Amino acid sequence: DTAMYAAKRSGRAQYLVYTPELDTRARDAELRAAVERDEFVLHYQPVVDMATGAVTAAEALVRWNHPERGLVMPGEFIDLAEETGAIVPLGEWVLREACRQAAEWRAEIPAAEGIWLTVNLSPQQIKKGNLLQVVTTVLAETGFPADRLVLELTEHEVLEPDEATVALLEQLCATGVSFAVDDFGTGHAAINYLRALPVQVLKIDRSFVAGIDESEEEYAIADAVVALGTAFAMHVVAEGIERPTQAERLLAMGCRYGQGFHFHRPQPPAQLAELLRGAAVTIGR
Ligand code: C2E
Ligand code: MG
Ligand code: MG
Ligand code: MG
Repeated sequence: DTAMYAAKRSGRAQYLVYTPELDTRARDAELRAAVERDEFVLHYQPVVDMATGAVTAAEALVRWNHPERGLVMPGEFIDLAEETGAIVPLGEWVLREACRQAAEWRAEIPAAEGIWLTVNLSPQQIKKGNLLQVVTTVLAETGFPADRLVLELTEHEVLEPDEATVALLEQLCATGVSFAVDDFGTGHAAINYLRALPVQVLKIDRSFVAGIDESEEEYAIADAVVALGTAFAMHVVAEGIERPTQAERLLAMGCRYGQGFHFHRPQPPAQLAELLRGAAVTIGR
């Protein structure tokens, strides 16, 4: 996708080679500037206890409130941010803002005290960022309790974790923070590693949930994944539940927690606060 543009500079014609790399640099600069300008917002999607419908957790999901394009979804900028490293400052902003917001809810809404906050982490934050220091600083600054924070890792980190990653996760775990493996089943995490790492939550990717109410084979596969999580004494959360029949089948398999449009869509902070205000105080206990 290389195009040539003639650029007139200092009276002479010069040729600027327009490459995808240049485009990446421009988009990276735009992303970093947007972090500085505070153009990102978080929406929160509840995770429910499917047996009772009670909210047990809220996952922070980032959106770019772009001055011209409106609300831009993470699918349009997260990959680039990971590629360029812009995810490190963006991810730090997400963690700080989510903890700040959740601490505020805890102070105002009784039911908010019983729920977990889950925040997505990028592999870059683990490899390049000073994550232990960032997490401890954010928790100290916001007053959000470590034992209510769950950091979501993708299977890439648990695929073949190096010693530094294992040590970092253990140090974080010692502060009281928990870990979830997100989108489980889409990567190639070896079962050994699941056992070796301090991971307490398994989130089954929605591709494993989609067909469980339509195909016996899909049902059997999801059933096996739930059994795997249960065997490792992990909390199992099914993602992308869109129909009541999927929720029923997951519960029958022994999967207690669910997330999906069938229960709640990701919502702006004010709406989540309203939901928590109306919730039973037994939430998440
Ligand atoms: P994820 O962490 O697996 O988050 C769940 C995604 O599935 C969200 O998309 C959510 O809106 C969507 N979803 C939830 N329920 C349903 C459902 O019933 N059906 C369908 N079709 N989709 C459902 P979203 O908000 O667009 O985020 C996409 C991905 O972007 C996230 O997937 C996560 O990997 C990444 N992401 C979002 N926020 C952050 C962030 O702050 N940091 C990092 N590193 N990644 C983030
Ligand atoms: Mg997630
Ligand atoms: Mg996920
Ligand atoms: Mg997913």
